[in-house]
Amino acid sequence: MGKRYYCDYCDKSMVAAPTIIRTHIKGVVHQKLVSAHYQQFKDPETILKEEGSKKPCSRFFSGDCHFGAICRYSHYTPDQINAMRNYVAAKYNSPNHLSQPSFEDLYQRLQSEKSIKTGLDEQDTVIYDECGVTHVLPWTYSPVFDNYNCLPPSIRRLKSGDFVNACFMQWGLN
Ligand SMILES: [Zn+2]
Ligand SMILES: [Zn+2]
Repeated sequence: MGKRYYCDYCDKSMVAAPTIIRTHIKGVVHQKLVSAHYQQFKDPETILKEEGSKKPCSRFFSGDCHFGAICRYSHYTPDQINAMRNYVAAKYNSPNHLSQPSFEDLYQRLQSEKSIKTGLDEQDTVIYDECGVTHVLPWTYSPVFDNYNCLPPSIRRLKSGDFVNACFMQWGLN
């Protein structure tokens, strides 16, 4: 027996020939099942955006629309759409939503922390590399070691510069 192609969406197997697979993937049955599969993972915001501009499907509500999830008319009732609108509105009005900082806010906060903390961190457990990334080191370093010049590399104080051009691919090979 030749190779078989199994379609997860349709729970169907077929001869693994490119033309057969291509025809299957273009088929309405397959496309309906794929859309239906992804529909269940969409958040209400996405569904509202997609359904908001569609007219209600009169066939679906009388029980005979065969297009399923690929229908160009909406299969959501006005009540369902309203419920989603209310859900989304409630979500955006909740204090929880407001306390969730945006990426922009987090970045700004990091930038201001950076200018406050630089030089004040006595233990030197926080370093900022040249890309502006903060690294909090899990250890502290005794400043006493700084008085010695010829320390073995393993106990020298690390600077962000030590990691420039570090070749991580080779770690552990020797
Ligand atoms: Zn399929
Ligand atoms: Zn429909």
